[in-house]
Amino acid sequence: MQSLIDTLHALAGGELSLVVGLLLAAALLLQLLIAVFRSGLRLYAERAQQRATLEKLRLQVQEAKLRCQQAESGKLQWNGCRKFSVVKKSLECEDVCAFYLKPHDGKPLPPFKPGQYLTFQLDIPGRDKPLVRCYSLSDSPHRSDYYRVTIKKEKSPPDQPDLPPGTASSFFTDVVKEGDILNVKAPTGHFFLEMSKTNPLVLIAGGVGVTPLLCMAQAIAASGSRREAWFFFGVRNRQEHIHKAELEKLAAENENLHLHICYSRPGPDDVKGRDYQHEGRVGIERLKEQLPSNNFEYYLCGNGAFMKSITDGLAAWGVPEKDVHFEAFGPATVKKKTAEPTASETVFLSKLQVTFARSGKTLRWEPSAGNLLEFAQAQGVRIDSGCCAGSCGSCLVAIKSGSVDYLKPPDAEPEHGTCLTCICRPRGDLVLDA
Ligand SMILES: Cc1cc2nc3c(=O)[nH]c(=O)nc-3n(C[C@H](O)[C@H](O)[C@H](O)COP(=O)(O)OP(=O)(O)OC[C@H]3O[C@@H](n4cnc5c(N)ncnc54)[C@H](O)[C@@H]3O)c2cc1C
Repeated sequence: MQSLIDTLHALAGGELSLVVGLLLAAALLLQLLIAVFRSGLRLYAERAQQRATLEKLRLQVQEAKLRCQQAESGKLQWNGCRKFSVVKKSLECEDVCAFYLKPHDGKPLPPFKPGQYLTFQLDIPGRDKPLVRCYSLSDSPHRSDYYRVTIKKEKSPPDQPDLPPGTASSFFTDVVKEGDILNVKAPTGHFFLEMSKTNPLVLIAGGVGVTPLLCMAQAIAASGSRREAWFFFGVRNRQEHIHKAELEKLAAENENLHLHICYSRPGPDDVKGRDYQHEGRVGIERLKEQLPSNNFEYYLCGNGAFMKSITDGLAAWGVPEKDVHFEAFGPATVKKKTAEPTASETVFLSKLQVTFARSGKTLRWEPSAGNLLEFAQAQGVRIDSGCCAGSCGSCLVAIKSGSVDYLKPPDAEPEHGTCLTCICRPRGDLVLDA
């Protein structure tokens, strides 16, 4: 009221022009503020658009690079075995060594897909034929100067301590030294990360199963991609914490990489927050607790029980099977669902007889065994094995009579009269030279 009286007084006092001036100035200021706000909004939208265009360009460049790499890789691939020198051997932690390998011919190395493995043909003293074993590449695929594998010495089974420890892994950790030369087949394998994709990932590793997943994390970091990756790694304690410093450096330098180390039995000197983030195992509850949703692509590698519990948990959580990828370092306890045999097929299959001629065993085929290699191993018939995916050829056995059906097409057609036991089952009564 007082201000109205004052205004009237001012009008009456002939200060009308001052008031009009003030109102005009206020209107101008308001217009100016609106203009600044609008141009701020436009600038923000333009920046967002620029960022989106840049990201699109970056992806296109990356795709072009990948295509070049693939073409280059094709030229540099080799058939059969190539000689590699062990240029460095380092003890990573208890019973685990990393081996840095350079081609003996000094020529460049083909890039590989993160997650793939090398196949070694090892001449081990006292053995009449080379032993074939596969080991995942554990370093970045962007390195053209060396390959790295990380190998854990496989101990005797806890319930059979009299058995010798793993032959190839003991040979690597106890015998192979810097300067030695090894026979190595080119990188291969179907468990790999598609680098042209940008969807978020969860990498889940148990023990030495960390090797292909570390390679995937390295690949994401080296590509400069902002792809979100959650990395869960379970070990007992610091003594088993493979490539600890390397993983910590990766996480510190890449904010899109969320590292969750789980110690199931931390040692007295292990510090939560420094060495590990969670006490306990990596399990589905841990994933549910840490991940914002289940909407990820999952890559798993670890022992059979570990992978079974996580794949079952993910399925129950509603993760589609197509989004779960895994690699088994031995006979797979997790099996991808295949078309169920019909009732009549099952009856037919369960009547088949498989004879292992050299072992002197004739057994009734068990359809639940899945493949001939697992069937043989479960019956105490020892057949060499390597990749368990039909690629490395170490489980090749001669067929004395009968024939087999392949559960998946072999990478290369095996020689006539032989079969890759890890990916086939009998078609009728079968006699194998094993
Ligand atoms: C694709 C792929 C990638 C892999 N990547 C890696 C990797 O990155 N790092 C890694 O460390 N491993 C990896 N592996 C596992 C590796 O290939 C070997 O399987 C592992 O090193 C064991 O081989 P070995 O020759 O030492 O053991 P083997 O000699 O095959 O023995 C295996 C087990 O059998 C026991 N055994 C010995 N004699 C007998 C007997 N008479 N009867 C029953 N059991 C017996 C041994 O004590 C041992 O526990 C990978 C496997 C695959 C398929």
